[in-house]
Amino acid sequence: MQADLIIKNAMVLTMDEKLTFYEKADLAIKEEKIVDLSPQTKFQAPKIIEAQGKLVMPGLINTHTHAAMVMMRGLADDMPLDLWWKNFIFPIEKKLLSPEFVKIGVALAAIEMIRSGTTSFSDMYFFEDATAEICKQIGIRAFLGEGVLDFPSPDAENAEKTFKIIQALYEKWGRDPIIHLEVAPHAPYSCGPENLLKARKLAEKLDLPLHIHVAETATEVAEIKLKYGASPVEHLEKIGFLCERVKAVHCVHLNHRDIEILKRRGVKVAHCPESNMKLASGQAPVVELLDEGVVVGLGTDGAASNNNLNLFEEMDAAAKFHKAICSDPTVMDAKAVLKMATSEAAKVVFKEKEIGSLEVGKTADLIILNLNLPHLVPLYNIYSHLVYSAGGAEVETVIINGKLIMEEKNILTIDEAEVMDQARFLAKKIQAEVGHV
Ligand SMILES: [Zn+2]
Repeated sequence: MQADLIIKNAMVLTMDEKLTFYEKADLAIKEEKIVDLSPQTKFQAPKIIEAQGKLVMPGLINTHTHAAMVMMRGLADDMPLDLWWKNFIFPIEKKLLSPEFVKIGVALAAIEMIRSGTTSFSDMYFFEDATAEICKQIGIRAFLGEGVLDFPSPDAENAEKTFKIIQALYEKWGRDPIIHLEVAPHAPYSCGPENLLKARKLAEKLDLPLHIHVAETATEVAEIKLKYGASPVEHLEKIGFLCERVKAVHCVHLNHRDIEILKRRGVKVAHCPESNMKLASGQAPVVELLDEGVVVGLGTDGAASNNNLNLFEEMDAAAKFHKAICSDPTVMDAKAVLKMATSEAAKVVFKEKEIGSLEVGKTADLIILNLNLPHLVPLYNIYSHLVYSAGGAEVETVIINGKLIMEEKNILTIDEAEVMDQARFLAKKIQAEVGHV
């Protein structure tokens, strides 16, 4: 039996429903699919990766970011979200954002994510066609949500224009195997009921997920309360926005009623603990959400509020953050947290039938890690090591949609040094602009 690529003699962590684990197994890939996962495969292939002493696991899924914002990382830190956004991010985006800016930023972000084991990311930003182009070239799986706002965005004078952009993106990328689309109204405070409902209608028409920031800060909650007499979640429920296709990002400030609504409507939550900590936004009630059966995945948010796109660090932070705020070391155990970056994250991006676990018939989005490193010895519990000890640099090889994207730490699909040079050059323009804001 013929396959295209076989990984041999690897330790395999499947993250399937039963959390099946193989001490030693072979994994065969044909085209984009996993066609065999067994102790000794009968498949043959022209390409063999010998993985003795290495770990194969599903690629990590970043459920929320703004990839191109890596260009603003470290530009302005240690200040409240509203000042950070109004004084730094917004003026730069208004003045400098272009398809070229986005391509450079996303290329840099994609390389960073691939190097730290992320094979899929969900993006909310502007010029998403440029993002799609560069992601397609690099070969990273992307879920792209063109941001909808009530006011002019960097690439659209109004929401109507944005809806047209989304329609055009759908026509161009709607059937692509690695570029997936979302409809992304930015937040209940930046999108009024009319545009929120138009976004929902478009998402229904095109059968796409909805991606929205919800209840990130206490300021947002107060603003929505003043304007609509309800919490952000209640407001979205009242106007008829919430449904199973909604991914709500942050959900930091929720009351018990909000959690009940999210559960009843089947809303998925993208949790970004490092961004919430850095901006001092508050403490998302993730333990309660999980207890209620709400699906939660991890996201990094943009690198300007993190300041990297490393999901290994995000897992470590998520586990420790909730133990600290709950004063309970038993919450957010390593297995639960790893699921939030793999199998549960796949549900948050509505692709659990294809990715998030390693099973025959599923798409081959996977990573190979070197375990022969001092900080991973001895090995008693693989979940513990991945969440509490690993940092992402252990990732050596990355396969996305059945294709080798990084092999033995070499990125195969783009010139990494050239991307970093382009980013440094663009940063000079950004720095010059900061002098004017
Ligand atoms: Zn965000």
